[in-house]
Amino acid sequence: MHLEALKEVDPKLYSLIIQEKERQMQGVELIPSENLVSQAVLEALATVPTNKYSEGYAGKRYYGGNEIIDKIELLAINRLKKLFEAEHANVQPLSGSPANMAALFAFLKPGEKFMAMRLDMGGHLTHGHKVNFSGVLFKVVHYGVDPKTELLDYDAIERLAKKEKPSLLLSGYTAYPRAIDFKRFREIADSVGAYAMADIAHIAGLCCTGMHENPVPYFDVVTTTTHKTLRGPRGAAIMCKKEFAEAIDKAVFPFLQGGPHENVIAAQAVAFKEALQPSFKRYAKQVVKNARVLAEELASLGNRIVSNGTDTHLLLVDVTSKGTTGLEAEKALEKAGIYCNKNTIPYDKRKPWDPSGIRLGTPAVTTRGMKESEMVFLAYLINRIIENPKSKAVIEKVKAEIKELCKQFPFYE
Ligand SMILES: *Cc1c(COP(=O)(O)O)cnc(C)c1O
Repeated sequence: MHLEALKEVDPKLYSLIIQEKERQMQGVELIPSENLVSQAVLEALATVPTNKYSEGYAGKRYYGGNEIIDKIELLAINRLKKLFEAEHANVQPLSGSPANMAALFAFLKPGEKFMAMRLDMGGHLTHGHKVNFSGVLFKVVHYGVDPKTELLDYDAIERLAKKEKPSLLLSGYTAYPRAIDFKRFREIADSVGAYAMADIAHIAGLCCTGMHENPVPYFDVVTTTTHKTLRGPRGAAIMCKKEFAEAIDKAVFPFLQGGPHENVIAAQAVAFKEALQPSFKRYAKQVVKNARVLAEELASLGNRIVSNGTDTHLLLVDVTSKGTTGLEAEKALEKAGIYCNKNTIPYDKRKPWDPSGIRLGTPAVTTRGMKESEMVFLAYLINRIIENPKSKAVIEKVKAEIKELCKQFPFYE
């Protein structure tokens, strides 16, 4: 990293950033919503478009001097449209949550009803949870997963939709490890006259590479973050049918936001270019392969995998099957340099702050170049910790192994 000026002006902050970089390099990042951006994306982030006010859209800005900014934003938009076969794209949402807020307000009036997955079965806070704007400002009907299979039950979702007649049906999740049948969701939405919305924040990098069904061409609106499997900067985008373009753009600005972060949009343009390359297809394929191997190996070591496996980049492990809890497992793994998050499992008998599960994902380790054999080794190490979360000796031993493994997969020089 070229941080000479920062080092001189603010040595304290410089030191913290170097420490964080070392933490990222010396640990194994298995949080499924995280990734490691390329050096090119990092460089674009730290550039002068951050100085610019550009409220509005290309050709219709509220400030002068946006001629070049327009070109940057259009580059990002056009690449994103190509990547997902989208009719219209807005790259200004500051992150996934504001993207969802804008999309919901583009289609619904306050008090109108939408249907989405419950948070504790894999949905997101912005999908109608009561502590979130989405649960406060709209009427929400929640669906869950089947208690036996832990899979989406499309017939049950259809029955609920027919009974409740929501104005919008939302699919796409935060902690659902299996493939989503977006075509079925579109049919269910059509059968009750609801808009079909998908939130592909987690799986966007799989949807644009053929590793998961891409809902963009036939859904009314699709939101995504750009920093998860898509491997871009922290940010978001909304894609929609042409007929909703104006409503979406107005919902982002002026309804919800002011000036867009054009340095982030520049970095998004870089990430979208990277995602259009054949190498990114290979990457996405390896992400899914790695997750499958990690799940299979953990299962063969006696861990219960929610829904019995994964079709995506993530998996949920019910760690109570080994006598520990989500919180205890997360903390013990963290001490060994393995990062994941505690997570509820469907119909969890425990509470959200100390649930029964942990959530693991392979986007970041795959970016570092790890493959199946490393997943087998990681499953062994994770299982050692899950079985011995209180043992300082085991944690120290695993930590040394992790450090050694990470040395073989350097990323930022
Ligand atoms: C991560 C995520 C979001 C929110 O993204 P933020 O950038 O954290 O606001 C929204 N929806 C889903 C499904 C997500 O996984």
